[in-house]
This record gives sequence, C-alpha cells and structure tokens, in this order.
Amino acid sequence: QGRKNVVIVGGGAGGATVARHLAEKAGGAINITLIEDSEKYTTCFFSNLYLGGYRDFASITHGYDRLINDYGIRKVTARAEEIDRTAQQVRTSTGETIPYDRLVLSPGIDLIFDSVPGYSAELAEIAAHAWQAGPQTQLLKSKIDGLKNGDQVVMVAPPNPYRCPPGPYERVSMIAHTLKARGLTDCTIVVLDPKEKFSKQGLFAEGWEKYYPGMVEWYGPNIHGGIKGVDVEAGTVETDFDTFRGALLNIIPAQQAGSIAIGAGLSDDSGFCPVDAESMRSKRDQNIFVIGDASIAGAMPKSGSAANSQAKVVVMHLMADLMDMRVFPARYLNTCWSLVETNDGIKVGAQYGNVDGAIASTSSFISQPDESADVRRHTFEESVAWYDGITKDMFG
Ligand code: FAD
Repeated sequence: QGRKNVVIVGGGAGGATVARHLAEKAGGAINITLIEDSEKYTTCFFSNLYLGGYRDFASITHGYDRLINDYGIRKVTARAEEIDRTAQQVRTSTGETIPYDRLVLSPGIDLIFDSVPGYSAELAEIAAHAWQAGPQTQLLKSKIDGLKNGDQVVMVAPPNPYRCPPGPYERVSMIAHTLKARGLTDCTIVVLDPKEKFSKQGLFAEGWEKYYPGMVEWYGPNIHGGIKGVDVEAGTVETDFDTFRGALLNIIPAQQAGSIAIGAGLSDDSGFCPVDAESMRSKRDQNIFVIGDASIAGAMPKSGSAANSQAKVVVMHLMADLMDMRVFPARYLNTCWSLVETNDGIKVGAQYGNVDGAIASTSSFISQPDESADVRRHTFEESVAWYDGITKDMFG
C-alpha cells in the first residue's frame, strides 16, 4: 500500500505551519504537497513595522527552500484552481491534477473590492489596500514616503470580520510615527470606520493622544453617517455627511474566504467556512480541513497567531486519520501585538478550547492603560521574539 497524500493549499501562516509540522511528525511516511502561487511569502504581520521604518522589506519576506530541501515537502508554485471533492483531487493553474487523502486549505482572504463603491483591484494600484502583503505594502510605503507637511491621509477601515482586528489602528500609529519622525506634524490621518468600536480602542486612543496629538482623527458611523464610496482619481472618500480629501488613500475593503474554499462549496452565507471546533475539519467535507482567515473559528480572531495554532491541531488530526496516532482535546492560542510608538507595544490574547461545540475563550489578557514604559518595552520585545518564533515555525 502506497503512502498517503496530504495536499495543502496556501503557504502562509496556516499552511506553511501544517506542512512543516506534519513533515516533522510523519518523518517521510506521508507525501506532503504544498500548493502556493508565490515564490516568496511576505508576512502581513510586522508589515506595519515596515511602513513605520522599523523593518526592511527583506526581513518580512521568507522563502520555502528549507521546507523543500530539509523537510522533503513538494512545493508546487501554481494556483489551485479547482477542487474535485468526489475524486479527491486538486487541479492547478499549470494543468496538474494532484490527488489527496486529506486536504488542508489555508488560502487566507479575498478582498471584496466593491464593498467600497468605486474601489476595484485595478484602482488598488493607485490607492493601496496593503491588506495582502507584498507589492501592495511597498506601494503604500512609497506613497507614505512621498507625503508633504500638511497632507491628509484617509484610511477606510474594514467591517467585521476581517484579518487582524487591531491591524488598521497599528497602521495608523506607524504612519503617524514616520510623519512625526520627518517633522511632518501638520499632517492628519483620518480614519473612516464602518464599525462603532474596534480592538484595543482605548489603548490606541491613549497612544495617539500621547504621541501624535492632533494628527489622528477617528470617525465611526455615528459621526460620518456611512461610507458611500471612493473616487480614487479625485482622491476623495464620500460619506453620508461629508467628503474627505486625501493626498493618500488607504482603502481596506470587506473580506471573505479565499476563492478556492468558496468555489469548493465549503463556505456558508458569511463568506467564510464553518469547521468543527475540535479539529478544524470542514463541516461540509470530512476529508478537508480549513484553517486561518478562511475559517469560522468561533471566538478566535483572524490572525497569523491563530492560524499557526490551528495548524497544530490539524496536524494532530492528520496523524490520527492517516497514521492512527492519538488525539488530545484541542487547545488554541492567540496573541495580537501592536506597536504604537518606538518601544511602546501593546497586546491582546487568549487561550481557547472546544466549549460545547464552539471555539470559545478559556482565559484572556490585554495590555492596560497607563502601563509603565518598561512594561510596554517588554511587550514590544516579546512581539519581536514572537515574530522570530512564528516565522521559524512556519519556514524552518
Ligand atoms: P495567509 O497567511 O494569507 O496565507 C494564504 C496563502 O495562500 C497566501 O500565501 C496566498 O498566496 C496563498 N493562496 C491563496 N489562494 C491560493 C490558491 N488558490 N492557490 C495557491 N495559493 C493560494 N496576525 C498576527 O498574528 N499578528 C500580527 O501582528 C498581524 N499583523 C497584521 C498586520 C496587517 C497589516 C495585516 C493585514 C494582517 C496582520 N495579521 C497579523 C494577520 C495575518 O497576516 C493573517 O491572519 C494570517 O496571515 C492568516 O493566515 P492564513 O494562512 O489564513 O493566510
């Protein structure tokens, strides 16, 4: 009898972690194929620190060489285009058909561009979203670097649910930091938010007031009335009550599961994929696991940390399914880190388990207002160690 085949779609926070950990556990007894259309992966995590000038682009970009050479993983650099769930095979953009015994999908998000009327994939080449890291992040950085004193930045923040709940607000902090460092303190950053409140709001508001007084204006729907649309060429965002003009627009639209998961019929009306809380197994197909941003993981936010943690639960179930190994109760972890200003890091996180069939938090923590500079510096240092750890965990 031949070796079993595990195919993983998406070589990001979830998929790369599954590939590496499964290779380590199975020791060559399972064929592992990783389908990822990029040659290199740029992490969204710490991409805001790149915008803030704390990191260079190379330091947030990672290759697959060690997964291929040291872990024996077959990497297929192509797009997974179609999943045939009956025949249990994946067809790629290069025309290959790859059979699987178990399939893991961690394709991340697709942006719903027209959730902000007037915005599109083409116009993202002018007004970057930078919500998928890579060239988009570099484009946004070049636009930030081109700002002059007095210019206004307008960010349209995304509606829930979206990847990285504190991400837009860390980004605001990092843009403000670079402007302040260049002496451009007459610049303003306007955030037009479709949400009434956001993650770590009190901590961010405290930081903006302390470090960037007068530079950040955040407006929720009760103030702007609703976001009606964007005119990228004119550089304006229209709301019910006003029109906001920006020298730089950063439009972050609504999100849904990566199209490969939706196309395979694994999503529900929310645009994301329901999974079993104990295993991250798709509720639509016993042979498929969906993790990371594409999944509906109960109380867990969409984050790299969450995807990495879910990956390990999946590996345990793959080993049980295919190698008769034991399974233990699922335990998940998440921490979302944000940098507000140099050495001022904040965090929010939780442990999770399967509580009556839903992933629910079993304990949690969050940074407190008025913490000492030492505590905040320590939190930032923890985040740097976390970044090194998770990227080694993903890529070896
Ligand atoms: P991804 O990491 O996006 O990986 C998906 C991969 O699948 C991609 O490489 C894509 O190319 C590939 N793919 C998709 N479809 C196909 C297909 N059909 N065929 C082949 N390949 C395909 N998280 C944190 O934990 N901490 C942070 O500090 C943090 N900061 C963030 C800051 C920003 C600005 C943003 C935008 C996000 C941040 N996140 C953070 C969130 C984190 O990046 C995501 O939640 C995480 O990457 C999700 O992992 P994933 O495996 O689901 O998807």
